[in-house]
Amino acid sequence: RRPYSDEVLRAQAQSVAAPGPTIFDKIISKEIKADIIYEDELCLAFNDVSPQAPVHFLVIPKRRIPRLQDTEDNDKEILGHLMLVARSLGAARAPAGWRLVVNNGRHGAQSVYHLHLHVMGGRQMGWPPG
Ligand code: C5P
Repeated sequence: RRPYSDEVLRAQAQSVAAPGPTIFDKIISKEIKADIIYEDELCLAFNDVSPQAPVHFLVIPKRRIPRLQDTEDNDKEILGHLMLVARSLGAARAPAGWRLVVNNGRHGAQSVYHLHLHVMGGRQMGWPPG
């Protein structure tokens, strides 16, 4: 087994799902600059600052939802919307295919407690993930 990356160590340092604002709220409010590739009233997509593939962007809801686990049955609209935005941007930017990832909680190696879809492509992905 490979040693855990800094990203996983950062994620492990978060012992509980923090409900408060994260760095992604500052990206949404434009307080912090990000390489935004798409925006609408419900969500924002931007290139990951530490890309793990030639194409690596995040799709996040503007509403603060810490983890996928914190969504409810009536969140179908936002969850479907995030997936459809990931689909359109993925198809345009990585036409040969892409990987969609949602890290949830500590064992999922989630480090930012604001729900986000990772879309990664532009190279052959391996399986299984570590
Ligand atoms: O799923 P996880 O919570 O581990 O992923 C958080 C992601 O957010 C990381 O891939 C990290 O590089 C990215 N990030 C970012 N811009 C920031 C802070 C984190 O793209 N300012």
